[in-house]
Amino acid sequence: MATSQASDIVIIGGGIAGSALAYFVSEARDGKKVTVIDRAFSRLNGSTGYAPGFVGQFNKSGVLTRLAVDSVKEYLKVPGGFDVVGGLEVATSSAGVENLKWRHTTARERGLEAEIISGRDAAKLAPDLVKEDNISALHFPGDGTANPTTIAAFFQSEARAGGVELLEADVTEICREDGRVSGVRTSVGFIQAQTVVLATGIWAKSLADFDIPIPVIPVAHPYMYGNYHEAKPYKSPFVRYPEHHVYVRDHGSFFGLGSYDHKPLAEQPKGSAIGDWFEEFDGTLDRALRLIPEKTKLVPREKFNGIFSMTPDNMPLVGEIPNVKGLYVAAGVWVTHAAGSARFLASMLKGETVDVTVRKALDPARFQGREMGSLVRESLNCYNSIYSTYENS
Ligand SMILES: Cc1cc2nc3c(=O)[nH]c(=O)nc-3n(C[C@H](O)[C@H](O)[C@H](O)COP(=O)(O)OP(=O)(O)OC[C@H]3O[C@@H](n4cnc5c(N)ncnc54)[C@H](O)[C@@H]3O)c2cc1C
Repeated sequence: MATSQASDIVIIGGGIAGSALAYFVSEARDGKKVTVIDRAFSRLNGSTGYAPGFVGQFNKSGVLTRLAVDSVKEYLKVPGGFDVVGGLEVATSSAGVENLKWRHTTARERGLEAEIISGRDAAKLAPDLVKEDNISALHFPGDGTANPTTIAAFFQSEARAGGVELLEADVTEICREDGRVSGVRTSVGFIQAQTVVLATGIWAKSLADFDIPIPVIPVAHPYMYGNYHEAKPYKSPFVRYPEHHVYVRDHGSFFGLGSYDHKPLAEQPKGSAIGDWFEEFDGTLDRALRLIPEKTKLVPREKFNGIFSMTPDNMPLVGEIPNVKGLYVAAGVWVTHAAGSARFLASMLKGETVDVTVRKALDPARFQGREMGSLVRESLNCYNSIYSTYENS
């Protein structure tokens, strides 16, 4: 049934970014009406619904490190939302060892707990996921694994308790009048709003007709679940193999593994963040599985192509869109940085003074004047360096 209503703030997208934003905005208790719109809340169809939730707080970017630290603080408050299992970055070559040394020093300078340990000790921490003959590893005891859907559901229910409305609908257009946003057209009618936030993840481009490029580029990514096993008396840290672009985690009753070791593939997402499986992903997973101890007998029980967003500089786009007053975006946001990014944007929406360094780094207008084709290429080029930890991570 078509309706016409009004809201002060409309957030499009109820994934982890939009839900966290709704929660932080609702904390103000300032009487403003806030509406979050998503196509489906009961089963989140975006990347949040499929992410294994690795959260490594250290990042070459100081801004991303801060956003990750802020996010973990929030996730720890969510019942069942975050497991502090620690993170391991394993080096299999001397170049890899040098890189870990740099990361170790820089992480500690930024106040993160981190230690270099031997390959043997790494294998003791994660006996099912790390062989004994690796050279060394960098251990981050404070890192862990997030449960993105639990976190999003928690933020939604807290936001609802704070008066936020959750509306299941498809937004078809962001409407503008005289240089400012006037509302959104949806499958259930028009909603008038002076402030609209686009938090639609891999679908950001479809509503982003803003006269400036919004390079949030959906990419294909292979992830697999292993066979079920008896519960272990320990929970392994999540493990990254930076030189091999591989990561693996303990899901409790099974292991999961993903890899960036393939040619970057742009995606055109349809109804969900799951795309068709690419044949070459089989080789990608085969190569990755060679890193895992044979005794673990890790083989794919289920494999899928999970779609998420890349940007040209591996930084999210969070902030106001110039030229259209009242229009904001929170896209290209990882689980790792979602709560921190959302808290930052909530401060902006409340008119609070925000950190200038963070604002500039996340400014959605930073690609103004650039040609979209080259921004797409740059975003795809970033893909292989996500867990390489050498350049961009
Ligand atoms: C396989 C895989 C592995 C990943 N691994 C990690 C990891 O280890 N660590 C990490 O930090 N991140 C990881 N990510 C990335 C992370 O999942 C995403 O960056 C994050 O979940 C994005 O959240 P979001 O809220 O911005 O977007 P989404 O979760 O995609 O949410 C967007 C929402 O917008 C809604 N929407 C879109 N268009 C409309 C519209 N027109 N009208 C109404 N609603 C709309 C959608 O229904 C959706 O619910 C991974 C992702 C995948 C798929």
